[in-house]
Amino acid sequence: MMIMRSEPTTPCAWANTLVSMWGPRFPVEVRQIAYEYSRRFNDPVLTISEADIPSFEGALAPLRKRGGWAILYNPSIISPGRINYTLGHEWGHYLCHRNQSPAGFQCGQSDVLGGTREQEREADRFASYLLMPLDDFRAQVGNQRMTLDLLRHCGDRYAVSLTAAALKWLESTPLCAAVVVATNGYVLWFRRSAAAERARIFYRSGMELPLGSLARDGDNLRAAEGINLPPGVWWSRPTREVAIFADRYEMTISLLVFEELGVLPDGWEDEEVEDTYDRFSSSAR
Ligand SMILES: [Zn+2]
Repeated sequence: MMIMRSEPTTPCAWANTLVSMWGPRFPVEVRQIAYEYSRRFNDPVLTISEADIPSFEGALAPLRKRGGWAILYNPSIISPGRINYTLGHEWGHYLCHRNQSPAGFQCGQSDVLGGTREQEREADRFASYLLMPLDDFRAQVGNQRMTLDLLRHCGDRYAVSLTAAALKWLESTPLCAAVVVATNGYVLWFRRSAAAERARIFYRSGMELPLGSLARDGDNLRAAEGINLPPGVWWSRPTREVAIFADRYEMTISLLVFEELGVLPDGWEDEEVEDTYDRFSSSAR
């Protein structure tokens, strides 16, 4: 295999390199980039196509006879945004992991064959940074209030799902915010912003959606600005909840913004710990 000396070593560095070679142009053409860029290797991506891979969303499969790789996605995925993200994820496995797993990868939402949890996280990070470079994302959102319309703008610009755009926003915002995904009234998983992590906001998988929340009891799920909820529903502070997706009885995805809290002073909680540590280590010296 031919290895360039300057080849990136992390998912984010790979994504940045490709974005600067091809862009910035949005939405990012994952197929074109994967075909063109991988030609420099002697095991290029030769096929990107639908394939019947039950219970998996996407796969990176070696083509043993032809000495290259296929990126495959499940034909049951109909949203172009999710197809795009799936292609980005598998292309990430190709760039970062194919030498570690010569048998390839099969990736689904709950089940994965071939990859470790860390490799899955890396492939997701790559897809996120390839499709939605942080600088451009920040330029789109600025200090605007996050609403369904603004999420749709991001979803359209980058050709990703509203959920993928919302998770990117969590990564980039200084606000205290979270995304909660639930099914049949119970939390499946959640993600939070750095400020929410500092404030120790947490929703256990399997917990019941809180009484009075939009996802559970809301009449007006489509309000673009979301609704304001009093303290005690989602957290001990007032919360704005926007329903990113809701089919009421099966799946709900809520964006929570703990606005009244505003921006937590950066690292206010860590600061005390550091101060103590500094004092301790300077006295120890
Ligand atoms: Zn994967």
